[in-house]
Amino acid sequence: MAIKTVGVVGAGSMGAGIANVFALNGYNVVLRDIEERFVQGGLDRINKFMSKSVQKGKMTEEAKQEVLARITPTTDLQDLKDVDLVVEAVLEDMELKQSVFSQLDEIVREDVILATNTSSLSITEIAAATKRPDRIAGMHFFNPAQVMKLVEVVRGLSTSDETVAALKEVSAVLRKEVVEVKKDVPGFIVNRIMIPQFIEAIKVLEEGIATKEDIDKAMRYGLNHPMGSFELQDYAGVDIGFHVMEYFQKEFADNRWAPPLLLKNMIRAGRFGKKTGAGFYDYNQEPAKKEAVTK
Ligand code: NAD
Repeated sequence: MAIKTVGVVGAGSMGAGIANVFALNGYNVVLRDIEERFVQGGLDRINKFMSKSVQKGKMTEEAKQEVLARITPTTDLQDLKDVDLVVEAVLEDMELKQSVFSQLDEIVREDVILATNTSSLSITEIAAATKRPDRIAGMHFFNPAQVMKLVEVVRGLSTSDETVAALKEVSAVLRKEVVEVKKDVPGFIVNRIMIPQFIEAIKVLEEGIATKEDIDKAMRYGLNHPMGSFELQDYAGVDIGFHVMEYFQKEFADNRWAPPLLLKNMIRAGRFGKKTGAGFYDYNQEPAKKEAVTK
């Protein structure tokens, strides 16, 4: 069955970006969130993203309107009944994801693949809420989905080869680079490797080996990373990194994943994280020095 229409569940940062990517590449999209204002918020973000492309001359206003016309917003999950693929991007909560998947299992055709954009939860556990575990997989986009080139396709315990092949094919149509994660493990590939780098950067700072500015400079110029470790942690939200470290520590039963003391204290202070936008460059009230390391 050719994939023409895609259901995206959740119209937050990731859901809106993913819906935009599909629509930009010719797919029809049914975009669902629980309340009108959240769906509208998603559409506004999509509109804003493409308006920037229009301003930069990368896209015409007419093309933008065509892409928007391919996205059907809804608050009713039943409206996904005729879609050919679903990508779920609701909040990172196992109970919620299982409830969404068990409802989708009843609504969409039997042959349809249900993919999750989860960053850390078990694909196998999400699949257990359905009668089609062979057609459940991770399809992990990165933020912002329209810009970041990578998709991790993740196997749950029962994910079939056909499901993996179909998701790789779709990712190629979306002009993404795709990697296959062969086992259902916390962090998949990218976060599994990125989190130890965050932990070591904080430890190098704690041990007084270098300043955060110099650590970031070292990563930028020594490894050609576009952002230093602390800039990246601040951008992603230091609370998110903290929770991932705690989750890995528990899942791998290994204290080498434990959040370093400095990060722990920042979280205890209650004012650092995604909501406030405050991070390592703000914790000791020094003026932000991000510009100092800009290439
Ligand atoms: P978000 O908070 O921006 O959006 C989540 C949306 O889901 C909200 O709009 C919420 O109203 C909606 N929602 C809740 N219950 C719903 C339901 N039953 N049906 C439909 N919508 C529902 O979160 P986000 O950052 O977009 O993250 C979404 C998922 O993507 C999470 O699993 C997260 O781990 C993953 N992820 C996030 C990032 C990131 O950098 N933000 C990157 C990769 C993956």
